[in-house]
This record gives sequence, C-alpha cells and structure tokens, in this order.
Amino acid sequence: MTTPQEATAAGERLLRIEDLEVTVHKHGGPVSLVRETSFEVREGEIVCLVGESGSGKSVTARTIMGLTQLDPQMEVTGRILLGDDDLAAMPAERVRRLRGRDLTMVFQEPLSSLDPVYTVDFQLREALRRRERLSRRAERDRLLSALAEVGIHDGDRVLQSYPHQLSGGMCQRVMIAMALLGRPRLLIADEPTTALDVTVQAQILALIDRLRQEEGMAVLLVTHDMGVAADLADRVIVMYAGQVVEDAAPRDIFARPAHPYTAGLLASIPPMVGERPERLLAIPGSVPDPSALPSGCSFHPRCRFATETCLTTRPIAGDLDGRRVACWNPLIEEGVA
Ligand code: SF4
Repeated sequence: MTTPQEATAAGERLLRIEDLEVTVHKHGGPVSLVRETSFEVREGEIVCLVGESGSGKSVTARTIMGLTQLDPQMEVTGRILLGDDDLAAMPAERVRRLRGRDLTMVFQEPLSSLDPVYTVDFQLREALRRRERLSRRAERDRLLSALAEVGIHDGDRVLQSYPHQLSGGMCQRVMIAMALLGRPRLLIADEPTTALDVTVQAQILALIDRLRQEEGMAVLLVTHDMGVAADLADRVIVMYAGQVVEDAAPRDIFARPAHPYTAGLLASIPPMVGERPERLLAIPGSVPDPSALPSGCSFHPRCRFATETCLTTRPIAGDLDGRRVACWNPLIEEGVA
C-alpha cells in the first residue's frame, strides 16, 4: 500500500502545515478552533478538506492565507511553509504581497470579497498587474478570455459593471476568474461553486483541474460535497472539531473509510443510482461547540464504536495502511485490504 503522498503523481511539496493551532481569546477564556493540524499539498495536486460546518476547514484555509492573524483576538502557532518560507513567522506585509500572486483564495461570499466601489474591469486589471505588465489592449483581451474561461461570454458588459449590478453567481465567477488570472502556485478555494448551477460548477471544476495539470497549480479545496472530492481529489483530509481525523487517498477513503466520522459522512450521501433508501442515514447529534469540547475523543458522543478509552483520552493521529487516522478503534486493520 502506498502512502497518501506516494499515491499522487504530483510534484514537489508546495505547502506544508505543521502542528497548526488557532485559538481565539474571548472574555470567557481561550477557545481552540484548530488543533494539532498537519498536512501537505504538492504541486499539481488537489487536496480536498471535508467535514461538517464548524469542523475548522474554513478557519484553516483563512489562516494559511494569513487572514485569521489580522484579528487581534486570534493566536496562531505552528508552521505554514510555502516552499521554504514560513508564512506564520512572516511579517503581515510580506504575506500580503504574496497573496494574489503566489497564493490566492476564492471565498464562499463573493460580494464580501469584491470591492463595491470599483468596476469589475478595474479589479481584474489590478489582479493581472500583480503578475505581469501588458498593454491596455492585451490586458483587456486577457480579462475577456479569463471571464470566458468561467463561462461569462458577455464580458464587455460584465467588465463595465459594479459588483452590485451582478447576480451572486456572476460575482462568484468573477472572483474565480480574478483568482486564476494571476496563475497562482496555490489556490485555496472555500466552497467555490456552491452558489452556481451544476453546469457552471462542472465547467469551473474542470478549469481548476486543467490548470493543475497544465501549470502545476496546487489546490486546497474546502468542500462539504463528497462527490466533488471523489471526482477531483488526489487526497482527502477529513476534519472534525478542529482536528484532522483522517488523511488518505480518495480510493482508500471511499472504499474503506477508517475513521467512524468519515464512514458517517459517506453513509449520509444519497445514492445517485438504484433504489433510494426510505430514510437517509445521518450522524446523530451535531459538531460540538469549540468552547465546550467533549473529553477524550471529540467525536465520542456521536460514535457508536466509542469505548472507555475514547471518553478519557484524545486519540493521536497515526499511520495506518498508508493513511493517517486519529482513532482508537479504526474501522480497518493494518494490512487487511
Ligand atoms: Fe469513535 Fe473512539 Fe474512534 Fe473517537 S476514538 S472515533 S470515539 S472509536
């Protein structure tokens, strides 16, 4: 069995997260939002970060971009290595200069990311100029082709528009075009296609897939959609209550999930073909409030495999048959295919 890293045909390691911890300091005391999180993304690789709302996916993504750290109530420890540079130890101004050029992010909420006082034309030109200088005519051609890549074929109209004059789905496509214009080394995309209809969604995911293959762009894709993960991911990282609970190649995760939470997520997906079950299986309960995490394994109140140890002792992530799993009683055994 190959390790998740060996399982990809991807290039050199681009991003390495080591022991990331994100804590918010509130009046009631510190609250841990992300804990003991470590993973890698290689050049040309798509890594999907999955889990329910509140599992720490978006906080992790925003922290890699250096955005969490802008809030004085937040404390970030650990290392965020982009190549050899540790973004966590870098002055905010240097990280800001990298954003949009080396690493870029597409957010769930396009209207909060586009500047309402500037036209789309102005904002796209700014993004393009971070990477290269062209004549105004060549710039315009690039903007129109970037918009066409995300399915916008009336580019002249859209370029002249302000964000409030466009629909949410159109703004989302503009955001994606803007992110990809700079041809970043690392794209972080947080539910990038949620607001789009399925045909545009498929078109944009195909574009991301093409850019990683042709240009070696690395992608960290935050999604709750296990179908997207199954289609695109070279590796799947499952987060729960601020921790990575399983990190594996998709063929392993989908064929034989090792962590009970991963198995629960997969069991709650409606089948695309065949008979529909009378009731969908759901994981009982909900993601715990980070300020009141259960003792031991955070998943134990929802886990039917929990034992005494699970109630008292937090599982440490370990290697198991080519994947990393944080569970005392994983659903697979070493060496049993
Ligand atoms: Fe369930 Fe225990 Fe594994 Fe946690 S450590 S997922 S409670 S079996």
